Amino acid sequence: MSATAINKPIYSITPFTTLDYPKHLASILWFAKCNMACPYCYNPRIVREKGSISTEEALTFLSTRKGRLDGVVLSGGECTLYPFLEDFCTHIKALGFSIKIDTNGSQPSVIQSLVEQKLIDYIALDYKAPQEKFTTITAHKNFEPFSETLNYLIHSRFPFEARTTLHSDFLTTNDINTIIDDLSRRHYPHTYYLQNYLHVEETLGATKMQQNKFDLSLLTQTLPIELRNF
Ligand code: SF4
Repeated sequence: MSATAINKPIYSITPFTTLDYPKHLASILWFAKCNMACPYCYNPRIVREKGSISTEEALTFLSTRKGRLDGVVLSGGECTLYPFLEDFCTHIKALGFSIKIDTNGSQPSVIQSLVEQKLIDYIALDYKAPQEKFTTITAHKNFEPFSETLNYLIHSRFPFEARTTLHSDFLTTNDINTIIDDLSRRHYPHTYYLQNYLHVEETLGATKMQQNKFDLSLLTQTLPIELRNF
């Protein structure tokens, strides 16, 4: 990663959200760049373009939100690609905020270190696709790091959610049932979130509206499932 990317890693800041961090009033810091390229990605500019805000500037902003907000979401892009993340989380924690991370799970050692040092409080982990479709959907060659992150979070009993964005032209009912079976086999103890793709004009892969119909009644019911945006 270039020095510019590291000096100004944050693409933009959403000052206030009640939706992205369960039971928290939070700000979202959007980290530029990602190591995946999901066609339905809603944030193509964040993934492709450079950041413009330094961590120091973000901390100055957050210090003005003390007492008004109680959480910070680190999203993107993929924040776990940045080598200073532990230090940054330490400073956010010192301001008194809880931290949620949105991640594609590709950096298990980073997640493990953040969890073990108690630098984060909640994770939303994208389960992009079953192993056999993982590279097709993400353009990331290896399912194993994600699998390792998932196993670690389950076995460490860390509070997190596994979630899948569903575009029915990319993922079928069988694919989602394969994910549900895999989560059940690993003894995933939380609710699984299935997020319906909502069409926007600008996505990373110029994705079209969903043409295929997804039949929710065919989903395997071996774990709690919550639907978003259906
Ligand atoms: S949707 Fe895919 S490409 Fe977009 S930020 Fe998430 S992992 Fe990266």
